[in-house]
Amino acid sequence: MRTLVRTLTPAVALLLLTGCTDGGAGVHGKPGSAGVRDPLFRGLGNGGYDVQHYALTLAYDPDTNHLKGTAEITARATQDLSAFNLDLHGLTVDGATVDGKEAAANRAGDELTLRPHRDIDKGKTFRTVVRYSGEPETIVDDDEDKSKEGWLQTESGALAVGEPSGSMAWFPSNNHPSDKATYDITVTVPKELQAISNGELTKRTPTAGRTTYAWKSKQPMASYLATLAIGDFKTTPSRTSSGVPVLTVVDRAVGTKRAHLIAQVPEIVEWGEEYFGRYPFSSAGVIVVPKDDVGYALETQTKPVIPVDVLPETLVHEIAHQWFGNSVTPKSWKDMWLNEGFAVYAEWIWKADSEEKSAQESFDEEFDNEDNWAFPPADPPSAAKVSDEPVYGRGAMVLHKIRQAVGEDAFFEIVKGWATDHRHSNASTADFTAYVEKKSGKDLTELWDTWLYGKDKPDSP
Ligand SMILES: [Zn+2]
Repeated sequence: MRTLVRTLTPAVALLLLTGCTDGGAGVHGKPGSAGVRDPLFRGLGNGGYDVQHYALTLAYDPDTNHLKGTAEITARATQDLSAFNLDLHGLTVDGATVDGKEAAANRAGDELTLRPHRDIDKGKTFRTVVRYSGEPETIVDDDEDKSKEGWLQTESGALAVGEPSGSMAWFPSNNHPSDKATYDITVTVPKELQAISNGELTKRTPTAGRTTYAWKSKQPMASYLATLAIGDFKTTPSRTSSGVPVLTVVDRAVGTKRAHLIAQVPEIVEWGEEYFGRYPFSSAGVIVVPKDDVGYALETQTKPVIPVDVLPETLVHEIAHQWFGNSVTPKSWKDMWLNEGFAVYAEWIWKADSEEKSAQESFDEEFDNEDNWAFPPADPPSAAKVSDEPVYGRGAMVLHKIRQAVGEDAFFEIVKGWATDHRHSNASTADFTAYVEKKSGKDLTELWDTWLYGKDKPDSP
């Protein structure tokens, strides 16, 4: 049976959905909200349910940029639901079911609203299947650099990168960091190409002219950290001395450029374990792409995407994110300084360890960088500013001020403890400041007021 797919304005969609539904079982659920009230990204995420697992089955043809997908989403209702939303950008929904029965599907902007055959009771686990197809799009961010995310076509195939919103360009999801889930990502590509994704490869199946790659992420992942690289790659497995399997994936167009740096991935993971505690995922790695494929590096889970021209400290930064951002994930995008402050501070520690520059020298440099004083790190004024300097450089300065206030030993215990105690969960800025004060036994109100929330540059560092 054909599923009704229409494009409606949000107001019309809302009108259609707010009426009492027939429900079938006599349950009077309400529609889940079309966002999770993220202070910066209003439309991202959806209310009324919590996703446990995504199983994505995809087929991609680089010649036509055609993607065909099935997303099986296992979620638990957090309210009685008459309808709920998923975030999906572009593409065509070919059909949807909830618990095996056809669900009505409506599109309005990046919102896909599904109305199940009968209401879903609060607390119930339900399974949604969305079949979709089309040409996935690149999303151009509203920031100064006009960064590109979502689906990028590359010389040899395609690359999917999703911070902050781009995952909705290739699969429907609850597209907000507050709802993490495990993933199975299975991708069929022409036989001369490979498909690389997060986690571990569980199966590689050649069929007529094509190959299917099945990847499993056993630990929870935020949607913005899901990645897919389709192309011609050289893959090299190795292992850290602590036993973490490592897979380096290098686009063949890159050749042996930066081979020495790329070979350092296991060593950088081991270095991270010393400072941040046990590595949080069941594998590590990197995806190295030509510099024209994407204009930035991204900490995609287990395998950060790195353009080949990056500096060693950028590789350190993206690997540090595996603890800070990927394992301990912000509750909202406003807390992004918790990702970037820690990742930049990891660069400072790395540089100090390699006797390039002390952390104090890195701090002093950032203090003199006027771009850091545009706004407080814990309060980016808009979505367009979320990747600006204060979130990064001044975020790291906050950590350095904590180090000065609590002393070396307590500081490094806090860093390790924060990553360990919040492993695979979500945390906010308020959770962090409370944690630091509890662990150090110090009232740090003045430090937070000046460095984390203060609008003005202090007179002296
Ligand atoms: Zn970063």
